Amino acid sequence: MQTANSLLVKVQPLGGFNKPLTYLVNKVTAKGIKIGSLVQIPLGNRKVSGIIWSFECEQPSNKHKIREIIKVIQETPAITPDLMTLANWISKYYACSKESCLEAMIPSAIRDGMKPKSQRLICLKKNNRDISNISKQANAQRKIIDFLEIHKDPLPASELIKKTFTSFSTVNNLLKKGILSETHEIVERVAYEDESPDSSMKVPSNIQLTTEQKKAASEIIDDLNLKTFKTRLLSGVTGSGKTEVYFEAMQHALKQGGTVLFLVPEVALAPQTVSRLRERFYSEKVVVWHSHLSAGERVDAWRNLTCGNARIVVGARSAIFAPLPNLRLIIVDEEHETSYKQEDNPRYQARDVAVVRAKANGSVCVLGSATPSLESINNVHKRKYEISKLSKRVDDRELPLVHLIDMRREKDKNRTTTIFSVPLVEALRERFANREQSILFLNRRGFNTTMLCPECGHVENCKDCSIALTYHRTDGYLKCHLCGFRKPSPLSCNQCKSFDLRKRGHGTQRIEDLVSDLLPKSAKIRRVDADVMTKRNLFRETLSDFRKGKIDVLVGTQMIAKGLDFPKVTLVGVIDADLPLRMEDFRASEKAFQMLVQVSGRSGRGNRAGEVFIQTYAPHSPSIQYARKADLDGFLEEELEMRKEFNYPPYRHLIRHLFRSRSQAKVDYYCSEWAKLVNKSQLEEITVKGPAPAPLEKIKGQYRYHLFYFTSSVNSALKALGKIREKFPLDPDVHDILDVDAYSIT
Ligand code: ADP
Ligand code: ZN
Ligand code: ZN
Repeated sequence: MQTANSLLVKVQPLGGFNKPLTYLVNKVTAKGIKIGSLVQIPLGNRKVSGIIWSFECEQPSNKHKIREIIKVIQETPAITPDLMTLANWISKYYACSKESCLEAMIPSAIRDGMKPKSQRLICLKKNNRDISNISKQANAQRKIIDFLEIHKDPLPASELIKKTFTSFSTVNNLLKKGILSETHEIVERVAYEDESPDSSMKVPSNIQLTTEQKKAASEIIDDLNLKTFKTRLLSGVTGSGKTEVYFEAMQHALKQGGTVLFLVPEVALAPQTVSRLRERFYSEKVVVWHSHLSAGERVDAWRNLTCGNARIVVGARSAIFAPLPNLRLIIVDEEHETSYKQEDNPRYQARDVAVVRAKANGSVCVLGSATPSLESINNVHKRKYEISKLSKRVDDRELPLVHLIDMRREKDKNRTTTIFSVPLVEALRERFANREQSILFLNRRGFNTTMLCPECGHVENCKDCSIALTYHRTDGYLKCHLCGFRKPSPLSCNQCKSFDLRKRGHGTQRIEDLVSDLLPKSAKIRRVDADVMTKRNLFRETLSDFRKGKIDVLVGTQMIAKGLDFPKVTLVGVIDADLPLRMEDFRASEKAFQMLVQVSGRSGRGNRAGEVFIQTYAPHSPSIQYARKADLDGFLEEELEMRKEFNYPPYRHLIRHLFRSRSQAKVDYYCSEWAKLVNKSQLEEITVKGPAPAPLEKIKGQYRYHLFYFTSSVNSALKALGKIREKFPLDPDVHDILDVDAYSIT
């Protein structure tokens, strides 16, 4: 088959096929292509694009006629070799198609072969004798020549015609006559170009690292010098200056001639980081990489990276796929954030992929957090990761003073429960009077409700799963979303017999209104929540205004709990600390603890000491007690013990198997039939829980049921399940999805 004039290559199609196929390419064309080049190939009766995957092909059995590549779209590799390795790993580990990984890795503009934007620069040809031949009648042409005889620098064609009131056809005519000459220049579209550091957040450039910072930085630098793969957890209390440690390490990686990837948990945090990076590494080009980039911005960012123009990338989850050659250092800031998990296909966890990518490159991965995930802590215990600690805030600033407010005792005149406790209201008023800033944090996740007793704080839990039961309005039952246990919801509290059981929740809007009533009219109160977040720049503007002191009180959800640094904030109020505890999730305590420590950490980061007021119905719950003392080790010890007892993550992996259908009967039937089949097979590798209706039982007309597998080896569990699944035909109306290392169980 391999003829004198052509070669065999393996091509991974981008469109409808999950493994590389063999194609023919003629030897002349083959000279230019490399592994990773983008080509167009015939697939069935379609033409699709594909990636050159390898040059090694065994001679095919001559049954099928091997087809020829149609054309080369782009010789420059569309993907780096380490990303190709990563695509293989992700598709296997997360049970998704290789194609969906490649789609996540190669921006669609690149896949379509989009070229960088260029513009024509026009000038007069030197020593041109023909100029005098332009007749006086050719008025427009004359104007252009006259203009360019004075303005000698080349200028864009569009500008030239604007200034001379002429047209493109006149310019083109002169080009044809050889009187003008043109050159092409690439125009760059830079995301966050305006993100130059604003003065209020300038970091003194003569910053002296603390002893702890120096130690942590030199530990990472030692790792870098070893030039082998290493993962290090940087566990540092809020305000301990982790960013400066990252910067020192980055400096070293750049000095080694390498590139650096800096992941932040939220797109909204990218500008803050970019601005600090552009100030510190002013001679480097910093590229922002995230899903909101326009096609043009992305093509330019992509080109800057692949040709080595830019050596630093900042971005959220998807930036883990930025095509950086010679990657030396990956930093994952706020590594505990669940936003690193992608909840769509491919369902990867960017923090874990970061570790795998570092491994593929023999480079260093740094995971940083004030509240590390139990997964990472467990990896430190298992000696897979090293750890560096920052135990103090910089400049000996104190951690804020935390007050717990027992909301069971806070009643208003009518003896009904209130939203704001008296101490919090007083503190807010005092801060406003002193012109200090406050943040009010509201944990609004609740799409469904658990039963809370406002008298004693009791929450109904499932006895088998130790997670809160969820109240279903439709039938009045309490249900467990892990194992499916259900019982009629009680009329009175199981603990104190009070009849005042409630299912509650209030929005940011409501809080904002209430605060306006509490404070003088001149107080400026702003809200940041998911609604506000949908407008691209509003969130950035709000944060910038807050930083400049134009806002007195910021009211917000999760968004403002993360990594933000506002030195003028001296008060943080947590309206409802218990909501995560009432969530039907075994990670509830971990989430509550992280949330409380992180929001508290927003207070007192400047010269004045900070205070935190946490309103709670469960002041004695361990996660709240540990958070109050910012006692990470205490919390970890207790929580790990619980996880171990139930054999939950991080001791085993959790795989969620979700079934969906428009027909409730069908999804119920197939999910339980499947569960029976799996249980009957008695797989050693997995423990099955469920099936149960998902907490969000119906989304967009689709009914959702799920079951959970707990396993110590994802690969062998997937293999075993795959074998059973082959013999289990699903109704065409029912679809199933596997979510490996699932966080969301909604
Ligand atoms: P973290 O991410 O650990 O919460 P940051 O890195 O945001 O903390 O640092 C908190 C603040 O302390 C920032 O304003 C930073 O500029 C400042 N800072 C960091 N290191 C030092 C230092 N060695 N000396 C003085 N200020 C510092
Ligand atoms: Zn249960
Ligand atoms: Zn009670």
